[in-house]
Amino acid sequence: LLDALVDQGALAIERVQLVEDMDRVKRSAESDRLRQALLTSISHDLKTPLAAVLGAASTLRDLSPKLSDAERADLLGSIVEEAERLNRFIANLLDMTRLEAGAVVPNAALHDVGEVVGSALRRAATILAHHKVELDIAPELPMLQIDAVLFEQAIFNLLDNAAKYAPDGTTITVRAARHGDAVLLQVLDEGEGIPPEDLETVFDKFYRVRKTDQVRAGTGLGLAISRGFIEAMQGTMAAANRSDRSGAVLSIRLPVPPPRAALDTAA
Ligand code: ADP
Repeated sequence: LLDALVDQGALAIERVQLVEDMDRVKRSAESDRLRQALLTSISHDLKTPLAAVLGAASTLRDLSPKLSDAERADLLGSIVEEAERLNRFIANLLDMTRLEAGAVVPNAALHDVGEVVGSALRRAATILAHHKVELDIAPELPMLQIDAVLFEQAIFNLLDNAAKYAPDGTTITVRAARHGDAVLLQVLDEGEGIPPEDLETVFDKFYRVRKTDQVRAGTGLGLAISRGFIEAMQGTMAAANRSDRSGAVLSIRLPVPPPRAALDTAA
């Protein structure tokens, strides 16, 4: 089994190399600088975890009798962790591709915002284990005509970022309230926030504010995908910084559907 894993890993790394080489040959001039940057980022995100899986698997295969139980468990742990990272990255790439192909068609129905927030929080429970979470959901929010899967994924991505970019022990606040004909959902954290010049670019694919963000388990796709999902439901997304203290505020705004009566009259 390990032999197969090592072979597969080596093969996949060669393939990534091949794609890179082919692209270099085909590259014409200007606009390809951007494509090249994207490709470098993609192959980095594929190669790094793959190389880690490969390293751990070959060590296990070659040195297994000499290793202690703890060392073996460590190596297996990192194989699983890095494979999960690869899995997340590929899932994100697929979501991005679907969005760009216009293939994300929301399956809309009436949903309660508090319930969707609740299920995003449950899914993010392990990620949020080192933070305090405060909920501030206004009572009697109107139901929204949305795809709960897409909305939950966008909220999950914001929670994931808040946990990643704000120090352990700080508070993450999830707030939802009605603002005119929309519901505004915000995730506020107590991290260092986002530089003012990056408040729009953070939604670009593969964009990361700090060099150090590269080493964290991220893909640079989370916010691009979230915005794509929300816009597919006629909503908008924005980034800002808190005015009361340091920290980012990521907002999702979704339209409140017209009252039933208005729909009936229109029909
Ligand atoms: P990533 O996988 O890198 O987190 P995202 O698309 O989710 O990708 O975010 C893009 C970049 O925006 C991040 O790399 C980070 O630099 C910045 N960012 C996102 N959320 C926050 C936040 N809550 N606080 C500070 N910076 C953030």
